[in-house]
Amino acid sequence: SRQFTRPLNDLANQFNTLFSAIAGAERVFDIIDEQDELKQELNKRVLEDVKGEVEFRDVSFAYEGNRNTLNHIDLLASPGQTIAFVGPTGAGKTTIINLLSRFYEVNAGTILIDGIDISTIKKESLRKHMGFVLQDSFLFQGTVRENIRYGRLEATDEEVIEAAKLANAHSFIMKLPNQYDTALQNNGNGISQGQKQLISIARAFLAQPSILVLDEATSSIDTVTELKIQEALQQLMKGRTSFVIAHRLNTIQNADRIFVLQSGKIIEEGTHANLLREKGFYYQLHGKKQIG
Ligand code: ADP
Repeated sequence: SRQFTRPLNDLANQFNTLFSAIAGAERVFDIIDEQDELKQELNKRVLEDVKGEVEFRDVSFAYEGNRNTLNHIDLLASPGQTIAFVGPTGAGKTTIINLLSRFYEVNAGTILIDGIDISTIKKESLRKHMGFVLQDSFLFQGTVRENIRYGRLEATDEEVIEAAKLANAHSFIMKLPNQYDTALQNNGNGISQGQKQLISIARAFLAQPSILVLDEATSSIDTVTELKIQEALQQLMKGRTSFVIAHRLNTIQNADRIFVLQSGKIIEEGTHANLLREKGFYYQLHGKKQIG
């Protein structure tokens, strides 16, 4: 029986070698792809001054292995405009922002900033012109001052405080045990969700981006802090092209344009008043308090 088992073992060994060779080749290709991408990035352009016109031209996208997440998205935001996205969870609101920030690349169509195809711009340069105030704002282990300065690393202490004042964050910071030198634990544990948002707004004031992305908080924030956030955001949005992922419709009534998304498609667009008059999906959503 040895005679039979031996070749079988050999065969199995050969298969193992073959499989590991294939797996190895895939890894090599991955590395080549990464190097290719780095090389391509090096040749891309740097954006200097950005006015903030943003255009999506017939953009479609699918996450790997998924069916289409976004289908034929067209939108044009003039510099300084506020654009809101509404729609149920999973409609594709976040994905639009993922593509604009080039965390993912479009499968078809073009995204342009001031008429420049963003796939030709260095990612780092692109993101320098963008500010993010997200529902779970990223805070790192470090002082309040360091967390705000992250918006512009070369900012002076005075500029950090100025930004905190603009963000309505200064007064709560002054009440912390060590004020601006208070150490925040990882991800800001120890201060409230609303206070985290105020810090991320201060950070954005310091960065002075031309394009803003706001993802409203869904968790409950006390009314006083909520008012401070709303007021600071209104100031921050002035003169910047802003994209708001809206979860509560009352905060976007003044948006220049509202896009209603469903299953990766824009199904309605217009101002709050226009959309209400149309008595479509937006009108139905408006009956509910919190959405997507
Ligand atoms: P929204 O922000 O409107 O809730 P998203 O843009 O987050 O919607 O999601 C759109 C669709 O894409 C959903 O079906 C979601 O499950 C899917 N999706 C989101 N992120 C990923 C990802 N990283 N990989 C695969 N699928 C994703």
